Formats: sequence, structure tokens, C-alpha cells
Amino acid sequence: MIAPKFHVKKNDLVMVVSGKERGKSGRILRVLPEKEKVIIEKINFIKRHARPHGKQRQGGILEKEAPLHLSNVMLLCEKCNKPVRIGHRVVEGSKKARYCRKCGEILDK
Ligand SMILES: [Zn+2]
Repeated sequence: MIAPKFHVKKNDLVMVVSGKERGKSGRILRVLPEKEKVIIEKINFIKRHARPHGKQRQGGILEKEAPLHLSNVMLLCEKCNKPVRIGHRVVEGSKKARYCRKCGEILDK
């Protein structure tokens, strides 16, 4: 079960609202529920030194997205083009969808 504090999920478009990556936006590649972190496409790159491994892999510097804490990201509304507060509403009878509280746009499609 996903805890309610997880306001975002995979493939959501989010914006970083604090930290050094503040103001950047991207899609969520992965959610790490046990760590309360998310990995966002092309954000928060870290350089890692990779050791040569076996014969086929070369050593060198690898760049990889590092997870960011959930509290540092907010869902981005494409219509408002800014991070917004979201609400929940029931659509199509029973499906729960998140919507932008500002413009009313449904963010779950
Ligand atoms: Zn909006």
C-alpha cells in the first residue's frame, strides 16, 4: 500500500522546490517508497567513479541521477507551468484522480 504522503508517482512531471536543483523539472523515473525518495530524469546527477569490471566494462566516470527526497519535489501542472497544490477528485464514477487546485486540470490521465 502506498502511504498518502506520496503525492507523486512514476512518470509524474515534477519540479524541485528546494536544494541545489531547485527550479528544475522532469519526469519521475522511480519512486523509492522505503526511502521516501524519487529519482527524476536528468536531475541531480552525481558523478561516480566506476571501477573496471570484468573485460567488457571500462572504468571511468559514470553520471547517474541521485534520488531526491519527496519533500523537495512538487507536482508540476503543465497548464499552469508551475508547481501546484493538488487535490483529489473522483472521475468516471470510481477512479480517483489528482487535479490542479489552481486551474482544475486533471493530472492523472
Ligand atoms: Zn494548473
